[in-house]
Amino acid sequence: MDRLPLAMVLPLLMIAACSDDANPTDATGDVETFEDSCAPNCGGLQCGDDGCGGSCGSCKSDEKCVDGVCLALLYPEICRGFNAPSSDDCGLVKRQGCCDAHNRVIWCESGSLYCVDCAKPGSEGDCGWKDTLFGYDCGGVGQSASFPLECGKECVPKCTTNQECGDDGCGGSCGKCDADSICGSNGICIPSMASVSGTISYEFHRPVFSGDGVALESQTGPASGLAVVLKDSTGSVLARSMTGVDGSFLLLLAEPSSDLELQIFTLFEGPFGPLMTVLQPSSTSTVKAGKWPVWAWSYAIEGQEEQGQGQGQGQGQDIGNIHISVEDGAQAIHLFRLAKFAFDFLITPLVDGDLSQLVSLAVLWSPDISWDCGYCYAKGVGQTAEQAFDKPYFCDSIFIDRLGCWSGSALFHELAHWVLRNHTTATFGMGNHWAGQLLDPPFAWSEGWASFFGISMNSMFFQEVDPILWAPLEFNSVLVSYDNDSKIKTSIVVPDPTKGLLQPLDERFVTKALWELWFALASTKSPDQAAAKTMVENLVSKRMLKWDRGHQGVDLVDFLDGLVCKNPDHKTIIDQSINTGLGFPYDDGGHCP
Ligand SMILES: [Zn+2]
Repeated sequence: MDRLPLAMVLPLLMIAACSDDANPTDATGDVETFEDSCAPNCGGLQCGDDGCGGSCGSCKSDEKCVDGVCLALLYPEICRGFNAPSSDDCGLVKRQGCCDAHNRVIWCESGSLYCVDCAKPGSEGDCGWKDTLFGYDCGGVGQSASFPLECGKECVPKCTTNQECGDDGCGGSCGKCDADSICGSNGICIPSMASVSGTISYEFHRPVFSGDGVALESQTGPASGLAVVLKDSTGSVLARSMTGVDGSFLLLLAEPSSDLELQIFTLFEGPFGPLMTVLQPSSTSTVKAGKWPVWAWSYAIEGQEEQGQGQGQGQGQDIGNIHISVEDGAQAIHLFRLAKFAFDFLITPLVDGDLSQLVSLAVLWSPDISWDCGYCYAKGVGQTAEQAFDKPYFCDSIFIDRLGCWSGSALFHELAHWVLRNHTTATFGMGNHWAGQLLDPPFAWSEGWASFFGISMNSMFFQEVDPILWAPLEFNSVLVSYDNDSKIKTSIVVPDPTKGLLQPLDERFVTKALWELWFALASTKSPDQAAAKTMVENLVSKRMLKWDRGHQGVDLVDFLDGLVCKNPDHKTIIDQSINTGLGFPYDDGGHCP
């Protein structure tokens, strides 16, 4: 088989980007007349649509047509295994990967292509689909309908000609029904004759900080983004939906029904199953090795009686507001909302909105469970809800039960570690670290970034600038303010401008630098989402994923380089906020991929 080395493929990709010129619709002349005849336009194209329903040619079986150019799949020449990328470009290969003709598994991770030879001795077995991984791997079995086994193949949507709605089997849809109709089992929209609507609110506590410590204030919030399901007395699902930003929901039914059960789940579903959930571990088993239920609340609804009247009009039943209190486990809803907020605003953009490329996340919480780290993040521990959540992070519930569930900044900090671990090349904090300790730049970076993510996301969630990182732990609770005007005084070790880019750093300095940079990029001291997005997207910029400057490993220098590569104007902003403002001797590396 012919495999083109990467260097020969990349220039083709660049040519392909210009092939839009061949589009026949950009005629600049007289467009008054409609011509019957169509002139095929294949100028320079090797393959694909000729603009008249014909083809400009087809590609070989190990190639793919991209914008009129046949591209070889980016098969790595040497399979380097799990620990090193086999190619620094993923080409068309996704996180789920594929199996090639040589029994090798190939997949994309943090913008690089990995390859493992399943035929080698010691391998777990042949290349195939693994449900627990939601991808191809050695030792897998069979294949997925949505992610073809064979490298280079694409999922073919399965919509019949008459189909109006429903899944297309590839993560998309065959169409949407009107607001007052529902998708029948045969993929045809049918009018809805009944509905159940209402709102869900929940109790949460907000910390109030003063010189004396922390007090909690009880508040009510909308239980947004939750899955709501309506079942009949036999347990069959009649309708499912998601609560809106105000906690409201509307469930459409084909016909009126009585004895209904409404179930509410802390579950965010993607195109291929659950993407994020809060699970409820039981106190009787080892937390890290269980199969736990999703947090759920159930309510009986009398439902509508079959009535002769109102024919042709749906019967709407408004059940009013359901309020879930702290005694009923409202903490799980708060944890869910925080994580859902991060997914919606900042994690999904990291994968260009392609939800199938996100790693699924399970947050574990139960009021009577504790585990040995205060807040801790664990990687690579298998958890199963309805499918695998392969990288959960854990919230210790003893402290969370009393206080910590309400610390958005600390929970977003842990979530940031999860983001760094699963979607970037950054390392993550290992072991204990404490205030004022000087850390190697990559360690200071991952902790400093996580705390910045913590306080900035918390500020965006509550729509007010809150510079305080509060993590209630059994010993040495953390209470740090990143604003000089705050009542809570924090001394941060600033760098020595004469000691260069490799000097060890206080993780809190990194947080402070990012915090100041956020407002500088936004040109305003407000919880600006656009500036935060610019910073988060920089984590997966080519500069950050592929290159390393400063200390070995991803650090603040790489992050600042990435911002300058994205926009040279950022250099002035960095000069003012970080060099002049905080004394870090950042120089403009000036090299961008
Ligand atoms: Zn941390």
